Amino acid sequence: MIRWNEIALEIAGKVEREIMPLFGTPRAGENLGKNVSGDVTKYVDKVAEDVILSELRPLGINIVSEERGLIDSGSDYTAVVDPVDGSYNFVSGIPLFSFSFAVFRGKKPVYGAIYEFVTKNFYEGIPGNGAFMNGRPIRVKKPEPGREALSFYTRGRGTGLIGKVKRVRVLGTIALELAYLARGALDGVLDVRNYVRTTDVAAGVLIAREAGAIVTDERGRELRLRLDASSKTNVIAVNDRLLLDKVLEELR
Ligand code: ZN
Repeated sequence: MIRWNEIALEIAGKVEREIMPLFGTPRAGENLGKNVSGDVTKYVDKVAEDVILSELRPLGINIVSEERGLIDSGSDYTAVVDPVDGSYNFVSGIPLFSFSFAVFRGKKPVYGAIYEFVTKNFYEGIPGNGAFMNGRPIRVKKPEPGREALSFYTRGRGTGLIGKVKRVRVLGTIALELAYLARGALDGVLDVRNYVRTTDVAAGVLIAREAGAIVTDERGRELRLRLDASSKTNVIAVNDRLLLDKVLEELR
C-alpha cells in the first residue's frame, strides 16, 4: 500500500521551497515555449514540474503532467499532476495558486490532494472515505437558492446565469476553486469554455465529490476524465441538484 498522503505532502513542501522565492517576479513568467497541450510553459511551471518528476519517477508509476504529458511506465497507477495551477496569478503576485495531485489505479481515482501554497491549507479526497482539509472532514455548503456564489468561466456562454445568482467569482485556479466548493466557500464551479484539462481538475473533482458535490459535463452527465494531458472538457460542479438544473437550463 503506497502512502499517497505522505507523498503528496512531501512533494508539495518541496515545490513550495523551490517556487515561493519566485512569487510575483518577472523571472517566474519567462516563456519557455509551448507545452503538450499548446499552452505556454512559464519558468515557474518548469521549476515545479522538475521537482515533481524527480520525486515521482523513483516510484515507477505512470505520470500525466501538465507540461510534459504522459510518461507511461506500464504501472497500474497513474499520478495526474498540475505543478502550479494558477501560474498566471503566481507570476502576477496574486496569492491564489495551488498544487494538484491525483492518483488513479487503472481508471479509478484512489487519492486526490490540493495544496494551497499561501494559506498552507491541504485538501484531500479519498474515495468512499470523504474529503478533508488539514485532516478534518469538509462538506459542501447547504443550498440557499438565490444566494449562490459561483465561480463561472464562460467566454460568453450561458451568461444569463450571472443575473440569477448572488455572487460570481473567477479566481484563476480551478483546482483551488473546486477545493473551495468542497469546503463550502463556493456553491458551484463552472467552466464551459471547453478549456479544462484533466491535470487541472482530477484532484479537485474527487475532493468535491467526496464532500458531496455533483460534478457533471455540460449536459448533466457524470463527468469522466481522460487520463492524458491534452483532452479538454467542460466542468459543472455544484453543491445541489436544483442549482445543477438552473445551470443546465442556462447552457441549453
Ligand atoms: Zn492548471
